[in-house]
Amino acid sequence: MNDNQLLRYSRHILLDEIGIEGQQRLLDAHALVIGAGGLGSPAAYYLASGGIGTITLVDNDTVDLTNLQRQILHTTERIGQPKAQSGKQTLAQINPEVNVVALAERVDDERLSELVRQASVVLDCTDNFATRHAINRACMAHRVPLVSGAAIRFDGQISVFDPRRDDAPCYACLFPPDQQFEEVLCSTMGVFAPLVGIIGTMQAAEALKLVAGIGESLAGRLLLLDARSMEWTSIRIARNSDCLVCGSHSAHDR
Ligand SMILES: [Zn+2]
Repeated sequence: MNDNQLLRYSRHILLDEIGIEGQQRLLDAHALVIGAGGLGSPAAYYLASGGIGTITLVDNDTVDLTNLQRQILHTTERIGQPKAQSGKQTLAQINPEVNVVALAERVDDERLSELVRQASVVLDCTDNFATRHAINRACMAHRVPLVSGAAIRFDGQISVFDPRRDDAPCYACLFPPDQQFEEVLCSTMGVFAPLVGIIGTMQAAEALKLVAGIGESLAGRLLLLDARSMEWTSIRIARNSDCLVCGSHSAHDR
């Protein structure tokens, strides 16, 4: 670390739990952020400011006026531009030392597998079940920890799925892929602007903790937030031995 980095990250380095070694682990890390919208915006802000060395930001959408109420990576001037590029521009202003790879593409299973394999941690900041399951499958297959967030109306949730731990559940243990869940989208249901900030920021916190090796992650716990009352509920979630993705009968060998 050079003098500039020692200054930039000094408030992290002062923390006993991080120090120079922990900060170096962050600098050496590669975070894959899938979705540069409401959750991905605050998450990427703190990953970049906190000194994650490489951030791959994936989003195939373009900036729209209706996004700006909550997607704080983007600006009014950038309406019509790809969100991945807009995000890269913002992150470069916050921390020019971070290597941001902007991918304006829709990722299929094969591409996801390739991207997840290179990552130290993955942040699921998407908004539909099909993509969430695809990301979970790739993370479990490559044993890369996954920080998953969701926000709709005034309801938020966050958890960590960590395949490096034998006791920890995966996303499919919680939401079995063969069951039907009602798909709810911000575009039809609405979402309270700061809710995505709260959840996305917590995703960044969990990702930084996982990479630096600090404390205890949310693996095995699901946090639910009702922002109307600002009340949190913590639910223990167990590994499902019959899980189609991580269970004993699943395709990939654990
Ligand atoms: Zn599972």
